[in-house]
Amino acid sequence: MTPSSLALLDDPHSADNLSGSPDIAGLRGPEDLVRFYREAAGTAPLLVVTNREPVVWKGEGCLSLPPGGVSQTIHRLLSRTGGRWIALRDSGGPDGLRVPGDEGDPGYRLDRMEIPPALMEGHYAGFSNGVLWPFFHDEPSRISGSVEDLVAYREVNRRVAARVLESLRESSPSLVWVHDYQMALVGREMRRSGSALPPLAFFWHIPWVETPVSGGIPRWLGEIVTGLLSYDQVGFQTELYRDRFLETVFALFGSRASWDGETLSVAMEGGIRRIHPGVFPISIDPDHFRMMARDPANTLRARLFLSDLGLDEKRAPGGYLISVDRLDYSKGFLERLDMLEALYALDPSRLGRLSLLQVAPSTRLSVDAYRRYAEAAESRAAELNRRYAKGDWRPVVTVSRSLDPSLLAPLYNLSRGCLVTATRDGMNLVAKEFLASQDGGGSPLFVSRHTGTAMTMEGLSLVDPADPALSARMIHEGLILDPRRVEKKNREALAFLREHNVYRWMASNLVRPLLSASSRSGTLARPA
Ligand code: UDP
Repeated sequence: MTPSSLALLDDPHSADNLSGSPDIAGLRGPEDLVRFYREAAGTAPLLVVTNREPVVWKGEGCLSLPPGGVSQTIHRLLSRTGGRWIALRDSGGPDGLRVPGDEGDPGYRLDRMEIPPALMEGHYAGFSNGVLWPFFHDEPSRISGSVEDLVAYREVNRRVAARVLESLRESSPSLVWVHDYQMALVGREMRRSGSALPPLAFFWHIPWVETPVSGGIPRWLGEIVTGLLSYDQVGFQTELYRDRFLETVFALFGSRASWDGETLSVAMEGGIRRIHPGVFPISIDPDHFRMMARDPANTLRARLFLSDLGLDEKRAPGGYLISVDRLDYSKGFLERLDMLEALYALDPSRLGRLSLLQVAPSTRLSVDAYRRYAEAAESRAAELNRRYAKGDWRPVVTVSRSLDPSLLAPLYNLSRGCLVTATRDGMNLVAKEFLASQDGGGSPLFVSRHTGTAMTMEGLSLVDPADPALSARMIHEGLILDPRRVEKKNREALAFLREHNVYRWMASNLVRPLLSASSRSGTLARPA
């Protein structure tokens, strides 16, 4: 079992290859996904569990969808097939909501769990974002958090599991699909109840780090890993993360664990647990981004927006490079600004011409490490602006609020290139959105080699935030490359994304647990 950092186009063990399963490779849009689900699950509803809600409550009868492609894809499936979603509440309104579907569609029920503020603080700011996030993004110096935070995390996971169990008494879902690092222990708490359960699937959205050597494996990590073994399937973004997870399992369980390339078996107190650790690189709907980028009204809005920022053709004649990230230390803001400065040193004729447009909405400001990082990133951008500004022109233009995808898509399209500089990133959807919005156009993507995107797509121009000078050279060369060569690369990337889209990602996550459920019950689901 050697971790691979090579490009992988398709996991040979992925559910796409299950014999007798519905066709997944051909999935292109929401209709295909609904058809797939009906074929695999019949009329049984899907139960989804996430930390955040998929909709924002704006007042009686008024819901809006927050940005975030993945939660919107799941939302669209549930709206069409019916189902239930359990999440921690983060907007006003009642505890239970009926989220309506379009005409003729059933919509779904959303359970919005109210967690007392102190408990939520320990669970979310304390353990999830103070311990798990920095640990799995290889930022040990940013780990904070206390035993009380771990206790709060366990308690919130226990409450969520109790709510899921309660819902199982009301209806029988096809499977329970739990998401991300904030909810790792929900499966364990459900198993502890001793109740008969439908298949439990989990998706781990963030990286998995190398198993700690010095100081041994922290106890809490052992608990998270054992918790994950309670699910029937645990999905990872890349082969590298899945292999590192397996290494941690072997470090913890030694010869009590075995792996046959498909199933991980671990002898535990209650018996042997068998799970499928799968590789499912998450994706986007590229056609949707292409359409938004091409739309003339969106493009006009983007041009006005750029003009308001001083990035019109007159004041920034060399255009702008774009980056779009939550203001998170894992996104490499400081390293990106170092690259920009190195790029200007390499080719001073870009001064006064080419700017960096950073869309950088703030995030998790209740965590100290985030507040400190935001200050450092702002002060570094201000320093560059002081040093290099010329007349109306500034090297760095920062937008601190979140922009709608219908504005982002033309902004990607009108840019001279995109910089993705994350020091660690589970996938990075911005890179994929940029490629889709290029529509085969000639602006290059420069993407950090430490992202899931770089690990799972071939032919991308890679940069390394650990080496800003070398990265600046790569960017310089990419910017002077014959645009026809960039167009060709972008067309190939787009073709890849159209095939490996978010609908296929969802289906490949669901197919194995759904088929195992139908074979367990001895019935094969028929199309509804
Ligand atoms: N995003 C957005 N508006 C913004 C900034 C980001 O809609 O102002 C979206 C972006 O288009 C992408 C997602 O947020 O779909 C960020 O996903 P990514 O995988 O790049 O990073 P994450 O925030 O999940 O770590």
